[in-house]
Amino acid sequence: MSPAGHLGAPGTPAKSGDKRARVEPWNDPTAVPYVRLVDLRKSFSGHVAVDGLSLNIYRGEFFALLGPSGCGKTTLLRLLAGFETPDSGRIEIEGVDMAPVPPYRRPVNMMFQSYALFPHMTVEQNIAFGLKQDRVPRGEIATRVTEMLDLVRMAPLARRKPDQLSGGQQQRVALARALVKRPKLLLLDEPLAALDRKLREETQFELINIQEKVGITFVIVTHDQEEAMTVATRMAVMDHGRIRQLGTPSEVYEYPNSRHVAEFIGDVNLFEGQILEAGRDHVLVSAAGGARILVDRGVDAAVGATVWTAVRPEKLRITAEPPDGPATNCISGTVYDIGYLGDVSIYHVATPLGRVRATEANRLRLVERPISWDDKVWLSWSPNAGVVLLQ
Ligand code: ATP
Repeated sequence: MSPAGHLGAPGTPAKSGDKRARVEPWNDPTAVPYVRLVDLRKSFSGHVAVDGLSLNIYRGEFFALLGPSGCGKTTLLRLLAGFETPDSGRIEIEGVDMAPVPPYRRPVNMMFQSYALFPHMTVEQNIAFGLKQDRVPRGEIATRVTEMLDLVRMAPLARRKPDQLSGGQQQRVALARALVKRPKLLLLDEPLAALDRKLREETQFELINIQEKVGITFVIVTHDQEEAMTVATRMAVMDHGRIRQLGTPSEVYEYPNSRHVAEFIGDVNLFEGQILEAGRDHVLVSAAGGARILVDRGVDAAVGATVWTAVRPEKLRITAEPPDGPATNCISGTVYDIGYLGDVSIYHVATPLGRVRATEANRLRLVERPISWDDKVWLSWSPNAGVVLLQ
């Protein structure tokens, strides 16, 4: 398979997250990475911001860097753009070492969180600005600006100034301005941070559509895990300048490799216990209160080892009666709190394994709910719902 080409066919409707990842160059040993970061390090006055990080990104990916504030995401983008110089390590784009290449010569453009639109210029003048500076012929500027206005659906507002636009519209102009120069790699630093939740969600799908149409490789920085899961072909969860886990959104969500990642991506219950049986295709764990936890995937750990089983709240079934069937993966407890979120309720249950959260869709109205505060309940889950974590 060639590493070149889009991950989604141009012009096809946006599909979120993993659906676009049917073409998976990262699983193809012959695929050549488009961006290669090798043992990259960057410190600021003794503080390590990027700590020996290596990463391959493939052409046409929508790659998300995700992590808590201060974990080094923006520094990594700035290193790629050439605004910072690494202390050591190597950055290659299309096989070319970027060390001697100044920012303005890199095939990279960066879209900032603030959008930084020129307030005295109209939408089309803002988009045309970079091309004018590069002395692109007038006719070509007009064609490319029109193309971009259509792409971001801003043609009817082309003559407006930024202060006459909504946040979402300004975001689209900033995107058009970044794309009009046809970078090979677009870096987006928290591009949707200024938008309210609903607009943010809509714009995420718009970004996916646009990225698929233009076929440019996008690297987005966000601290919002839902956003990363929605837009990304793959994501890297960072912590203290390192990558803790790299994978498609569903790999990272379903199979976190540590308690740190499990807790950072979504909500999770962690049950501590000791391995009773460690088979090739299953693990049986003994936990507090005589609970037996069965997971249908093997792990690389010995009998007796302390492990944590991670189970997402939506994977737990909560019932007022003990469920039929085997006694594994079932604990009882008492409801001490119910969080009503409209679409779902979160049941907080005190159990011998600690406080456990279970999410249920609100198919019934609140008043008709069969489980209430102080009720004795049973929580159960299937062997493929949990993941055994060693750290
Ligand atoms: P946020 O989500 O808050 O933007 P981030 O993950 O993007 O965080 P960075 O901005 O990359 O984090 O910063 C990583 C670390 O490096 C932080 O501790 C930050 O204080 C430090 N840092 C970044 N830039 C500089 C600088 N120019 N001088 C000194 N320290 C810096």
